[in-house]
Amino acid sequence: MTEPEQAALQPLADGVLAWVQPDGSWWINNAGVILGDDGAVLVDTCATERRTRRFLESVAFAAGDVPIRMAVNTHLHGDHTYGNSLLPDSTVIIGHPATREGMLNDFVLAATPPVWSPLPEWGALSLRPPTVLVHDRLTVVAGERRIELRHPGHPAHTLGDVVAWLPDDGVLFTGDLIFHAVTPLAFMGSVEGALRSLDWLASFGASRVVPGHGKLVEGAAFADVLDAHARYYRFVLDAARTGRSDGLDPLAVARRTDLGEFAAWPDSERLVLNLHRAYAEATGEEMDLLAAFTDAVAYHGGPLRCAV
Ligand SMILES: [Zn+2]
Repeated sequence: MTEPEQAALQPLADGVLAWVQPDGSWWINNAGVILGDDGAVLVDTCATERRTRRFLESVAFAAGDVPIRMAVNTHLHGDHTYGNSLLPDSTVIIGHPATREGMLNDFVLAATPPVWSPLPEWGALSLRPPTVLVHDRLTVVAGERRIELRHPGHPAHTLGDVVAWLPDDGVLFTGDLIFHAVTPLAFMGSVEGALRSLDWLASFGASRVVPGHGKLVEGAAFADVLDAHARYYRFVLDAARTGRSDGLDPLAVARRTDLGEFAAWPDSERLVLNLHRAYAEATGEEMDLLAAFTDAVAYHGGPLRCAV
């Protein structure tokens, strides 16, 4: 179910396709491509050389030998950006300033901490951050089609989330503001902000939604998906609030918390990372990312499942 061969381009509208990779767990992301007469615009790349090459070969098969003019990074995480370095030198990489900053400071590609098992096989990749920066909004054009890039205006999944909105087609690429039936993650952004971003996402009125992880969402089902995210973020915030008043650290809170309806989602150990972020937001202290991952591994009982 998680093999790279299971990934496929799924048509959303004429010349708009999503690259959907099952099962959406750690490092297995979704991406997309918008085809214009004058070339292609990508939304994100993939984590490894192998997965990104499969994506690019599928785009070439669908579109012919068109130039890839631009690639938008929805945020800094390696599953959406490490494949950038396989794109032609002429491809312009676009992202939020915080995405560029984060990629310039990335240490995971060069020295992956032993958090996952097996460790991802990155292949021959290097960091290639965006050189065109979208602070709030930017419109790019592919053929006749407008692609509106928008930042929610506050931290959410990360500090630099950008969605790609195609108003003529009603298609919304959310990046990791949406994890469809996969445990959401806000440890490098804000749990409160991720919760706030949901109304903003709903306001686009999308008819088809490409989440950062998990299956595509039809517009009629999007409200339910947003509700599930809201319940999860409130669950994290409630657990953090009671845990702090009981004097417990995030790991102890996670261990005493019943996951309830969220137990069925992959990567449930993300609760520990999200609690660390909720604690940092409540206290105003800097969050120690490696300490948070060490706690997540302890909660999980060993390195985290990785099928990339
Ligand atoms: Zn992410």
